[in-house]
Amino acid sequence: MTRDTFDIAIIGGGVVGCAIARRLTLDGARVVVIEKALDVLDGASKGNSAILHTGFDAPPGSLEQACIAAGYKEYLEIAGQMSLPILKSGALVLAWSDDQLKQLPKLIEKAHANGVTDVTSLSREEILRKEPNLSPDLLGGFAVPGEYLIDPWGTAHAYILQAIANGATLLRNAEVLTGHFEGTSWTLKTTQGDMHADHVINCAGLYGDIVDERLTGARRFTITPRKGQFVVFDKPASNLLSSIILPVPTKTTKGVVICRTIFGNLLVGPTAEDQESRTDGSTTRDALLDLQAKGVEMVPGLSNCDVTTAYAGLRPATEYQDYQIHQDRQSRYISVGGIRSTGLSSSLGIAQHVSALLDTFGTQFKPLSTPVTPTPEKLSEYHDRDWQCPGSDGIVCHCELVTKREIERVLDGPMPPATLAGLKRRTRVTMGRCQGFYCTGALAALTEGRLVRPMGTRDGS
Ligand SMILES: Cc1cc2nc3c(=O)[nH]c(=O)nc-3n(C[C@H](O)[C@H](O)[C@H](O)COP(=O)(O)OP(=O)(O)OC[C@H]3O[C@@H](n4cnc5c(N)ncnc54)[C@H](O)[C@@H]3O)c2cc1C
Repeated sequence: MTRDTFDIAIIGGGVVGCAIARRLTLDGARVVVIEKALDVLDGASKGNSAILHTGFDAPPGSLEQACIAAGYKEYLEIAGQMSLPILKSGALVLAWSDDQLKQLPKLIEKAHANGVTDVTSLSREEILRKEPNLSPDLLGGFAVPGEYLIDPWGTAHAYILQAIANGATLLRNAEVLTGHFEGTSWTLKTTQGDMHADHVINCAGLYGDIVDERLTGARRFTITPRKGQFVVFDKPASNLLSSIILPVPTKTTKGVVICRTIFGNLLVGPTAEDQESRTDGSTTRDALLDLQAKGVEMVPGLSNCDVTTAYAGLRPATEYQDYQIHQDRQSRYISVGGIRSTGLSSSLGIAQHVSALLDTFGTQFKPLSTPVTPTPEKLSEYHDRDWQCPGSDGIVCHCELVTKREIERVLDGPMPPATLAGLKRRTRVTMGRCQGFYCTGALAALTEGRLVRPMGTRDGS
């Protein structure tokens, strides 16, 4: 364990921790990210809808709305330079009942108040012309042209890889157990020994309240995980829609979405189920059948489409609607909690907000003048892939067309996967129709001795 004192210790390698690590590293800080899991993106960031939201329906004036707006803007600014994939699909918010239809004008007003001024009302006929595979039972809706589909994992990997390439340290398999501030710096006790840092930023997602208590002795909010289950349809289903289909949102959830994924599938979900467990990401037959039926109701052609898989994600919801970002200047501590259902879109904005909070602490760094920008793996089905380039040394995962070269590259890279799940998030292996049935043997041979949790062991698949 290093005796060095870092400028910043970030607890948690979810999308929020990764984005903050990137921002503060570029600001010139010496950053360490401490993650308790074997790999990054093992918490809430593991399973979401992967929509880059405009924030059209966020509560006006909220911190969430401000961070989404700033994060969305920065994402579009850096996407080209950082090779972040983006699928310009746009979204349609649809009303299926008279009650929902009545809510549309207020939602459009809210979108405009949030600065999303290109939101426009559409008639039933206009919507059906745009998306002819939607059920004719729909009553009306509006377009949100700026909602896009992105890669939920490649995006966060690109943030942390840029941080690492510019000097940040990533420590995985290290849980922060306790910590104390001694006048000028923090000592964090982790399962891998003590770490020292001038500032601590708690980005522990589903464990944010627990980490707050471990470090400050108090919880400012309580996490109640909100599970969201999804059904993933086979790739041919993606031909049925081009827009993201959003329902009229409620207070607790954005509701059941139907959209393509950047990996070429079509998904229906999520559910919104509060639960006590912070780890139970299981799916249930009833919920999946219900989602499938809802999907068919809205897009009847889905009744002829096969399902590839299902998954669930857990939102770090709290008793508050807004994000819970608190700072203590005295102890140089910032808690970034309750980033419930929009963190993928807002993470770059949250990172800007945290950087500005550090300024108010009087903390000054010297921004990097020529930061390095690594090129992430290209996983989007709608952009060029590695298998299309010569010299790939053959395809290993035939469902998802993942080459041996891509797998070798990430295994040899600066943040090699520790588990098969981590390899999947970096390359798409085992995500396809056969769910790894045909490529598992080849993957076991390729990864032998190279994963922290080898394939074939418990939870190693
Ligand atoms: C069903 C669903 C759909 C969603 N859809 C979208 C969407 O379409 N668009 C969008 O923008 N957002 C979406 N989101 C929201 C987004 O996924 C979350 O807001 C985001 O992932 C939260 O990230 P985080 O970094 O705060 O938390 P996490 O990803 O949970 O990261 C926290 C990390 O901290 C680590 N940790 C915890 N305790 C400790 C400790 N003591 N020591 C060290 N490490 C620790 C954990 O292991 C974890 O890796 C969705 C979420 C869900 C669940």
